[in-house]
Amino acid sequence: MSEDSEIYDYIIVGSGTAGAVLARELSGRGKKVLILERGQYVPLKESVYTFGSIFSEIPVADKLKGAVIHAAGGSSAMYLAVMDEPPIDAYRKLGIDLQPAYDAMRLQVPLAPLPDALMSPQTHRMREAAVAAGYDWKKKLMLIDQSKCSGVYNYDAKWKALTFVDEAVRQGAVLKCGALAERVLIEDGRAVGVECRIKEGAFRSRSVRFRAARVVVCAGSLATPLLLRASGLPNVVAAGYYIDPSFTLFARVPGLRGLDSFCGTMEMTLEEGIVLKDANVHKFPFLMFMPRYMQFSRMFAYPEHLGITVMAHDEVGGGLSSDGRYHKTLDAAVFDKLARGERAARTILERAGAQDVFKAPMFIGGALGTLRVGSDVDARLETRVRDLYVCDGSLIPENGRVAPTLTLLCLAKYLADTLTQTRNAPAEAEAVSA
Ligand SMILES: Cc1cc2nc3c(=O)[nH]c(=O)nc-3n(C[C@H](O)[C@H](O)[C@H](O)COP(=O)(O)OP(=O)(O)OC[C@H]3O[C@@H](n4cnc5c(N)ncnc54)[C@H](O)[C@@H]3O)c2cc1C
Repeated sequence: MSEDSEIYDYIIVGSGTAGAVLARELSGRGKKVLILERGQYVPLKESVYTFGSIFSEIPVADKLKGAVIHAAGGSSAMYLAVMDEPPIDAYRKLGIDLQPAYDAMRLQVPLAPLPDALMSPQTHRMREAAVAAGYDWKKKLMLIDQSKCSGVYNYDAKWKALTFVDEAVRQGAVLKCGALAERVLIEDGRAVGVECRIKEGAFRSRSVRFRAARVVVCAGSLATPLLLRASGLPNVVAAGYYIDPSFTLFARVPGLRGLDSFCGTMEMTLEEGIVLKDANVHKFPFLMFMPRYMQFSRMFAYPEHLGITVMAHDEVGGGLSSDGRYHKTLDAAVFDKLARGERAARTILERAGAQDVFKAPMFIGGALGTLRVGSDVDARLETRVRDLYVCDGSLIPENGRVAPTLTLLCLAKYLADTLTQTRNAPAEAEAVSA
């Protein structure tokens, strides 16, 4: 075990959405920042090789797995860029005011619904059908730089956390990739650093200790509880989590001349806890999914395909067993919701003139809310260990379920402001209950 001689102001574990914002904010304010990222720095492009090398899955419920992306920039490398407004009220009840951070962040990222001109023929067809069926089919906010969209779809136009990581590094932050944080070092009740396994080539690695005045864990909603537990914090994931199970129906509209499409640009709430979403994916994932589902003939008919996703809110539950495995059993109510959503989705497809419907296997939007503000962290996002903070998808509250990225941009900005005490500190920081 070697000891790094530098002492940093902050160690940030994980360079995904939250870690990237935090690193950019803190390094921009002259703080000495070290980012530890277990994935590699991969030039981002949509290819089987790139995505294959950064994608992995963790079982989270019954037979369902949560996708995790290990790369500098985290999950935003593969996300859809569909945004929800942050659940400001839900956080306010927890003593966190995200509004100033939201006001600031929305000026720094390309946040807007897509104009009709950038929506594909499939998206238009689905909107017409949903509206004709009487549904309130609405545009979503997207994190897309529209100036980069000459045709309809462009992977490079999606905002990615890697751009903020790059900016942090230009501002002086140190980024170590292939650096798996194994334990937060805690001395006399406070975090003082991180023990890390650094990859050196394909088969070798070495352990290194890094020291800092503060440690912020931004490893993602599934990895963060594991790291906290490995660091000696008890009772993580004590209150369960939610996964919002979903499935997609694909169907053919003979004669439709579809184009590569941004996915998820429109959606509707059918009833409380049931959401239907435009799932007109672009060609690359379509060609990856169809063979996986044994739907070989569809591969040659991408332009004729429509996709619609049904998502239902599940009850919070499940946990993390002593051997480090997540477990959760879905109850009957969520399957009822999915069935009601499926009926509405089939109605929309029928209205769109689609036939030959194929129901793809269930997947999850993510496992979120694995930790709680109020018990795992206080309103300053500090754990019961002093100088040890958490900021990532683990803290998206159950009563504020959203596509998490925009909320995490704001939560990380809020934390940076709180840590550097510029503004926006919690009015009343709540003590973490023992
Ligand atoms: C296919 C897909 C589509 C999605 N689409 C959307 C969407 O349209 N809209 C939306 O809002 N959200 C979407 N999401 C979810 C969204 O991308 C994530 O919820 C969000 O990026 C989470 O950010 P984070 O900072 O919590 O974690 P992540 O972005 O997951 O970053 C965590 C980082 O920590 C690193 N890490 C983990 N453990 C360690 C360790 N021990 N040591 C060092 N590093 C570690 C990981 O390698 C990773 O880089 C999607 C996700 C996926 C997978």
